[in-house]
Amino acid sequence: MSLIITSPLRGWVSALDNVPDPVFAQRMMGDGVAIQPLADTIVAPFDGEVMTVHEAGHAVALRSSEGIELLIHIGLDTVALKGKGFTPLVRSGQTVARGDELIRFDMDAVALAAPSLVTPVIITNAEAFTIQRRTLDAPVGACEALMTLAPVQAQQKRWSDDGTIIEQAVTLSLPHGIHARPAARIGECARQFEAEIFLRKGDKRGDARSTVALLALGTALGDEIIVEARGDDAEAALAAVAELVASDMGEGAAPDSAPAAPATKSFDMPELPALEDNQIGGVIASSGLAMGPAARLRQVDIAVPRDGAGAEAERAALDQARAAVRSRIEARAEAGGSIAAVMQAHLSLLDDPALLAGAETRIAAGNSAGFAWRGAVHDQIDALRATGNKHLIERIDDLVDIERQILGAITGTPGDADAVPEGAIIVADDLFPSQLVTLAAQKPAGIALARGGPTSHVAILCAGMGLPALVAMGDALGDVADGTLMLLDAEVGHVTLTPDDAVREAFAARVAQREERRKVARTAAAGVCHTADGVRIEIFGNVGTVDDAAAAAAQGAEGSGLVRSEFLFLGRDAAPSEDEQYQAYQAIADALAGKPVIIRLLDIGGDKPAAYIPMDGEENPALGLRGIRLAASQPELFETQIRAILRVQPAGQCKIMAPMVASVAELRALRATVDRLCDELGIKEKIEVGAMVETPAAAMTADLLAAEADFLSIGTNDLTQYVLAMDRGNPAVAAGVDALHPAVLRMIGETCRLAATRECWVGVCGGLASDPAALPILVGLGVTELSAVPGSVAEAKAIVRGVTMDSARAHAQCALACTSAAEVRALARRFEESER
Ligand code: PEP
Ligand code: MG
Repeated sequence: MSLIITSPLRGWVSALDNVPDPVFAQRMMGDGVAIQPLADTIVAPFDGEVMTVHEAGHAVALRSSEGIELLIHIGLDTVALKGKGFTPLVRSGQTVARGDELIRFDMDAVALAAPSLVTPVIITNAEAFTIQRRTLDAPVGACEALMTLAPVQAQQKRWSDDGTIIEQAVTLSLPHGIHARPAARIGECARQFEAEIFLRKGDKRGDARSTVALLALGTALGDEIIVEARGDDAEAALAAVAELVASDMGEGAAPDSAPAAPATKSFDMPELPALEDNQIGGVIASSGLAMGPAARLRQVDIAVPRDGAGAEAERAALDQARAAVRSRIEARAEAGGSIAAVMQAHLSLLDDPALLAGAETRIAAGNSAGFAWRGAVHDQIDALRATGNKHLIERIDDLVDIERQILGAITGTPGDADAVPEGAIIVADDLFPSQLVTLAAQKPAGIALARGGPTSHVAILCAGMGLPALVAMGDALGDVADGTLMLLDAEVGHVTLTPDDAVREAFAARVAQREERRKVARTAAAGVCHTADGVRIEIFGNVGTVDDAAAAAAQGAEGSGLVRSEFLFLGRDAAPSEDEQYQAYQAIADALAGKPVIIRLLDIGGDKPAAYIPMDGEENPALGLRGIRLAASQPELFETQIRAILRVQPAGQCKIMAPMVASVAELRALRATVDRLCDELGIKEKIEVGAMVETPAAAMTADLLAAEADFLSIGTNDLTQYVLAMDRGNPAVAAGVDALHPAVLRMIGETCRLAATRECWVGVCGGLASDPAALPILVGLGVTELSAVPGSVAEAKAIVRGVTMDSARAHAQCALACTSAAEVRALARRFEESER
């Protein structure tokens, strides 16, 4: 007997593998197909009964009269929309005939609010059938045959049944109850055991292996659920399933179940200095002072019609918009450096073949250019999400940015940045790196963000551009009206709103003094750097591109302490060739005219994923396969890079540095590879190999690493996140992620102390080396090389030249005894005033 399932909607049918959600793609919930909707109504795929319609209206489970259990899940993560955009047309328990309407949904609203519209159609008891699918990657009409099923013989019970049932009560902490994703996880867990496992809510009971049965329980946050198990391994099964059911499975507490504690209560925040009524505190992301009117960044919704005015006209409209956006981006790229690098990534998105093909398919199907582009961009966003790596967000931001630029050009909507006047202080909730780069073209005076993180990539870009920035300022920033005069103090860490004349004038005087100091520092930037009592401290520059290297050299950099080689590897489909890399490294070495250049081996994975390096989705990428750990699985990639570095002339100018080192073995393996490749290339000069200290493990074993390394360089951005266990990209903890936290300073001090026992020098190449408040402390702790963003190099030299080792050491000891980063900053201000 074969059973036919017809399509529940019109759309484009493809394999589940393409669904950017592992719950569906890995068949955790069952087998089936995915449909990209081209219509807004779900109809019954067979005659049967509605088992459940989720209260959020986004999913319906049905059972056919022959026992097929089927789940239709409209879009991804749509449970979070809480019913917005969905109109269920049936109720649980209702009998339906093939073709009856089940749910109608607002395609535009859901497409905008959810990560994807793709609709998995899943047979949740797939083990009971063999499945034949219609041709995939093809259009399908509603009620056209989709899958043909044939029942397979039922399996024998595999356990000896003495009839004992054991059970445990748990309280649900899942914010949306047991919806499709938790049901799949429970089913997956239950399938690891032989025992029968059921979940009960009141008088309803469902097999833990059946998604549909679990959904039909109709659970909600706080419900009491009884987990029961029977069979040989019932105890283990009960413990595992009960534990899972009781957990929130990573979905977090429901926003309206219990009011979230204010951020200041939930984390051990540094105390900020006492604030006046017209001041708002924040965390320094890029130090400096700025004064100007507030300009709030607004993102207007760009509406586009679904239907086009004919394929020809829509193609022309898209081409025209791409050309307009291209010339704007090319003009911005002329700024060079990191701005050019981001602009280059945007240019490549404009010509991305997958985006163009996605848009063309839709235009050919009658959509407007804007609708087609938006759809194509969202397909790519889905594909990025499919990697399961939450930190792909920055790449997605680029896509969203380019989507908005093109839609703006098509509809004539002014860009987000266009309303920001020159000299303003940009006020926003948060910024994407690409948005910042676009905004920088408007020459703002400073940046004030309600969220954001002080070691995020936006912070690094701000520091690189010399743009004062405060982050993690909280909701109070939302009340600042456009045009309000703001004094942004990214030395102390607050803004002052509508100051009186005296305060404004005093601040203007500080701005002028600071500018004067920087000018003087620039004029004295050339020459080697010593402390006031003659101890040599090297001041280097961090670079990503040859433009950065030239900028650093112009500021007096004595070399580069960190070449972030990822700039060559990210945002492209394939790794750069050895030749391409060699040319890039040679150009940087040339720009630094024979001075030392420390090239960090590619640091991807974690928050910097590359599409061409296959990586399984990681639950916690920051603790996963990143940095030098990747060398074991991708030896070719690393060896190609090392060969390119070794070819740079003069030999030995470039040193090699390993990111994310956590063990001596990693460094030994790298050393062996470098030695072997030197032999192969006939290189006789010594090539120095160093390790980044970014993990507490590296800091605490600095003596062991130092015995093998030519140098150590502390990456304070990552070290801070790992020491404090605070994600550097998570705005919720941003206010605590300050590298001047005494715990981080103690790690730095310990690194220097341990490395000194092996006479190995220690540098700092993380953001702390660009923070004027930190420099005397770092020197006092024993750091002898500081690699700052190019714009801060001259000032760093001036500061170091102004301190003696004795005063720096005494100051560092006080800093280690502080109880918070805020106290360290207050101490640093006193030190600066006393030294002036
Ligand atoms: C650091 O972690 O401090 C560092 C320099 O590396 P990145 O910021 O590139 O991760
Ligand atoms: Mg790092």
